[in-house]
Amino acid sequence: MRIVVDLNRCLGYAQCAFLAPEVFKLNGEEALMYDPNPDEATRLRVLRAAAACPVQAIVVEDRLDETHKV
Ligand code: SF4
Repeated sequence: MRIVVDLNRCLGYAQCAFLAPEVFKLNGEEALMYDPNPDEATRLRVLRAAAACPVQAIVVEDRLDETHKV
């Protein structure tokens, strides 16, 4: 799966880093680092993190959707 975080929106609330620490990390107070291609094993946590982000800065692009296109 692929994720994109809109860092202009991100306000460093760190909900994502709390819910999926292997994917999202806060560097200092507000610099978010993240893995743009997280392992499938983290899917549920990544989806929870995206849902929990107060400013909806996390966009999840699902590879499955692409394979379903004809
Ligand atoms: S939860 Fe949203 S606002 Fe907070 S650090 Fe993560 S991406 Fe940024």
